[in-house]
Amino acid sequence: MAIIRFQAVHDANSRKPVFTEAPSKKTSDYYGINVFDKEKMQRYLSQEAYDGVMECIEKGLKIDRRLADKVATGMKAWALEMGATHYSHWFHPLTDGTAEKHDAFIEYNEFGGMVEMFSGWHLAQQEPDASSFPSGGIRNTFEARGYTAWDPSSPAYIVGNTLSIPTIFVSYTGEALDHKTPLLKALSAIDKAAVDVCEYFDKNVTKVYSTLGSEQEYFLVDEALYFARPDLVMTDRTLVGHASEKDQQLDDHYFSSIPERVSGFMREFETEAYKLGIPLRTRHNEVAPNQYEVAPIFEECNLAVDHNVLLMDIMKRIARHHHFIVLFHEKPFKGINGSGKHNNWSLMTNTGVNLLSPGNKPKTNIQFLSFLVCTLRAVYAHQDLIRASIVSAGNALRLGGNEAPPLIMSVFVGNKISSILDELEVRVTSKKMTPDEKTELKLDVGKIPKILLDNTDRNRTSPFAFTGDRFEFRAVGATTNCAAPMTVLNTAVAQQLVQFKKDVDYLINKEVKKDEAIFQVIRKYIIDSKNVRFEGNSYSEEWHKEAKKKGLTHITSVIDALDAYLSAKSKRLFKSQKILNEKELEGRTDVRFDNYTKKVQIESRVIGDIALSQVVPIAIDYQTKLMDNVRGLKETFGQSEFKKLAGSRQELIKTISEHITNIKAKVRDMIEARKTTNSISNAREKASQYAASVLPYIEDIRYHIDKLEQIVDNELWPLPKYRELLFSR
Ligand code: ADP
Ligand code: MG
Repeated sequence: MAIIRFQAVHDANSRKPVFTEAPSKKTSDYYGINVFDKEKMQRYLSQEAYDGVMECIEKGLKIDRRLADKVATGMKAWALEMGATHYSHWFHPLTDGTAEKHDAFIEYNEFGGMVEMFSGWHLAQQEPDASSFPSGGIRNTFEARGYTAWDPSSPAYIVGNTLSIPTIFVSYTGEALDHKTPLLKALSAIDKAAVDVCEYFDKNVTKVYSTLGSEQEYFLVDEALYFARPDLVMTDRTLVGHASEKDQQLDDHYFSSIPERVSGFMREFETEAYKLGIPLRTRHNEVAPNQYEVAPIFEECNLAVDHNVLLMDIMKRIARHHHFIVLFHEKPFKGINGSGKHNNWSLMTNTGVNLLSPGNKPKTNIQFLSFLVCTLRAVYAHQDLIRASIVSAGNALRLGGNEAPPLIMSVFVGNKISSILDELEVRVTSKKMTPDEKTELKLDVGKIPKILLDNTDRNRTSPFAFTGDRFEFRAVGATTNCAAPMTVLNTAVAQQLVQFKKDVDYLINKEVKKDEAIFQVIRKYIIDSKNVRFEGNSYSEEWHKEAKKKGLTHITSVIDALDAYLSAKSKRLFKSQKILNEKELEGRTDVRFDNYTKKVQIESRVIGDIALSQVVPIAIDYQTKLMDNVRGLKETFGQSEFKKLAGSRQELIKTISEHITNIKAKVRDMIEARKTTNSISNAREKASQYAASVLPYIEDIRYHIDKLEQIVDNELWPLPKYRELLFSR
């Protein structure tokens, strides 16, 4: 064991920085070369086919077979020129990753030879043998199968020698089996609802896009050290390991200069990302040692979701060139910061207006306020569901740990916006306004941008913060597929916008002037959603108490939080916006319960194994060494001197024994708890039982192992330590 450890540490220390040759070209010269984007479509499709596809994407129309054939022909020509030999439908099943099945372009021709074949049919649909993807019982292996269907709104691209076609994944009976199907429906719902509200302000708005910029945090670990840690290999997090003497307490890692080997890695994965049209802009060192962040320029939400998942894949792949492993786990190391994926979200019109950005005219700002308060009210109304969209076994270890927000879904809007909302609440009444009052109110509303300019308020403790022209949903975990939270958020806001339109129209029908009607509804929503606003420190204990009084729920159990997907309120929401039906909701929630169970189950097996087959034998070895030493002392010195000399060693032998006894007993009990729990068949109950009766053992066992780590001879210890994992770069 110890030999492996030393070899690993030695390997890690001998890594030379890998310099990636800077591409000789400017980024813009090769940006998107591996993507079948608009520019390539122009070149490889007839004008008629190009216009047809564009119209279908724009209006969300179905692409017919004839058009699909034309696109396939163009796509094939481009892909073959690029050296592609295979194609694959790429989709997001309900696992943590993506799926792809490669098929070669080849087909027999009439003379028994080979031709490259790729038709509209191949492009539009593929039937992977999908029986092994989780569906939560929707698709039984013996009946309905699943198929993938082309999503033309996300362009095809080439990785290696494979043409990848982004697709959705559904069952033959029509149920969604992936993350993307409900997302696309939610994006279409918010588009329609937002366009309807924009009608009050600007008739030129015919399309509203949801936008997403996701900041991705991650850790890098040297691969030699990684492979000497079964917990990292199997669970992506360290299940044991005593804190390093120094970690992040000096705040010397955040934004510090990027180590050479790391910057070599960053440069290479950025280059690959640029070739795939992923607009990465920001990179920096994060708070914890060996923790980093990458952020793109925001994009239309569906594309941003695809790009984020693709980016994670690229990063994992490229890291190996630099002898690193990327950890996206939300809490790979105990006691230091974990990793999130801040989802920056907004709404953008086809006319180029950001609906969550104050403008320079009263009209634009009334529009801005309408969208702002609708978002506040939606988050308030669906706080439980929003939380459910981001909880997981991993994220539960990060949230609420005084480094990331608690599981109370409050919204921070900043002092300035807060006081504007408070003022509107007082100044608008249900009485008819005088022309003077109205003019004055509009003028004041028109001044919002000037005030906001110097509003640099940042509250890092809030799970959901307004940052001047967008909301930043910070509770999202680093491994999470953004499609889940983005589906929930866009659906909730869509429903709220529909309601807003109804409420305003109701007043207009009662002869209230449009502006006044809008102001009155805004005021109502400000009052309704007041309790969701919180400007203070979300980490504080006082807030947890106050939140309760305000009716904000604080659910820390992953299982209880997930129940929100199945509440009557959530079911109504998803049904009203036609996103997911009851069967689909139940199916995907079961998948989440099951995923929780399996994660904890694997962690529990791994720590049991590390404890019994790595730690205990080494602890016994060291203990034997100490006992030999005590015996030697006794032989060398007389009885009275021996007592003085050997006392502390005898204590140590005893302590080691106690820890070993504890570890063995707890592992045995944990295995028993697992056995009992495994017999439960209901997915929710099983997950809940795993949380209650298995999970606590992991921490318990760890405690004793970490104590032993501090006592046992460093040369014998079988696992790379925190100081090695965190500081080897
Ligand atoms: P910080 O860490 O200070 O919050 P970053 O620069 O790391 O900021 O990330 C901000 C993210 O927000 C970027 O991905 C950026 O593109 C994104 N963003 C900016 N404006 C919008 C918008 N209107 N809609 C969605 N995302 C946005
Ligand atoms: Mg950032």
